[in-house]
Amino acid sequence: MRLTRYFLPVLKETPSEAQIVSHRLMLRAGMIKQASAGIYSWLPLGFKVLKNIENIVHEEQQKAGHIPLLMPTIQSADLWRESGRYEAYGEEMLRITDRHDREMLFGPTNEELITDIFRANVSSYKDLPLTLYHIQWKFRDEVRPRFGVMRGREFLMKDGYNFDLTREDALHSYNRHLVTYLRTYERMGLQAIPMRADSGPIGGDDTHEFLVLADTGESEVFYDSEITDLKFGDRAIDYDSHAECQGVLEEFTSRYARTDETHDEALFAEIPEERRRSARGIEVGQIFYFGTKYSDAMGATVSDSEGNRVPVHMGSHGIGVSRLVGAIIEASHDDKGIIWPEGVTPFHVGIVNLKQGDGEADAACESLYGQLNAMGLEPLYDDRNERAGGKFATMDLIGLPWRITVGPRGLKNGVVELTSRRTGVSEELTPDAALAKIAAIYGKAG
Ligand code: ATP
Ligand code: MG
Repeated sequence: MRLTRYFLPVLKETPSEAQIVSHRLMLRAGMIKQASAGIYSWLPLGFKVLKNIENIVHEEQQKAGHIPLLMPTIQSADLWRESGRYEAYGEEMLRITDRHDREMLFGPTNEELITDIFRANVSSYKDLPLTLYHIQWKFRDEVRPRFGVMRGREFLMKDGYNFDLTREDALHSYNRHLVTYLRTYERMGLQAIPMRADSGPIGGDDTHEFLVLADTGESEVFYDSEITDLKFGDRAIDYDSHAECQGVLEEFTSRYARTDETHDEALFAEIPEERRRSARGIEVGQIFYFGTKYSDAMGATVSDSEGNRVPVHMGSHGIGVSRLVGAIIEASHDDKGIIWPEGVTPFHVGIVNLKQGDGEADAACESLYGQLNAMGLEPLYDDRNERAGGKFATMDLIGLPWRITVGPRGLKNGVVELTSRRTGVSEELTPDAALAKIAAIYGKAG
């Protein structure tokens, strides 16, 4: 993309309404625009990051055999009366009446709708196990929408639902989701720690929240510092193996890590004092096992191998896709702007032309631009007639992890400059060597 042809409405001033750094930077970098309280338009740069996060979520879910579908945002109140949640959900639910006086609602979550799809189509244990998921907008009429996309009213969520014959199989699904979530967050450059949590209005016995540690987080958390040494990494995993998935769950949940809702002072005190931590965290996901709560209420049964009708065991599993955009920025920025992890960056590399209009500089930039595109990467070429300082400030603000700077002086010596946004370290390289390095970073053939 050439910046002169893009739509990147960066702001010079720091918006006064934004209380936390991710919200400020998303507004300044032209990623979002508020439409009304807690509801945002995603401008092109923000939309690209949102889509990158969505793609990672899709890939990791499908590696585990989870199947994507798409359910609507608007649901019928009748289904929620069946589960008993229509009244129970309270003021957070946006209720709508259509022209025929039918009661509808903008879905805050989808347990009822997916259970209805299941019961209409599945009737035998032979069709299990089954995990269906979608990525769809949700609406919750939060009392205090704030912090930009972190606590919106309309927000994008991945929600997945497992259907299993037995409790044991459903707990395997729970563990499998835990593994997929660890991998998903790590690919986004985040450490998200699974913590024992409270189930709230979803209901159920087993639940973990995934928290990114950040001072601006809304959750209070308590943990054993040893847990922050754990990494899933690129180890192989057999998602069908109960033992392997259970092993990962044990590894990542055997140390103390809880939100304030389930915090236990006595247990916490058993950790050696130097490892006891209390901090703030951003909830970026949650997994639940809730047994037959919805299948009992809504008659979702299958026949087992002896022909008896039994209710299916279920769980639901959510990732805050739009909240993650803010959470990643909270975890990765400096005083100049955002620092995108390579896994989610909106453009792979920025090209800064120090002297637009100079024949050689223009030609070198065009050549780099063309070759990066040919590799299957997306460069953002700042081809504006602006002074270098302004171009650098924009690149630093929008946070592309790599920048190639091209100017007549370097070109005389046959070099361009490659700069890491994270470390600020620059090296002078030939254009070909710079391209090879970028290709290697993104795993492309140079
Ligand atoms: P919270 O405690 O933050 O209100 P929740 O526990 O009610 O969230 P879940 O039902 O677990 O939310 O939804 C799954 C994920 O969706 C959450 O982990 C969070 O990342 C995201 N999410 C929930 N509410 C919001 C919101 N108002 N704005 C943005 N993302 C949200
Ligand atoms: Mg939650």
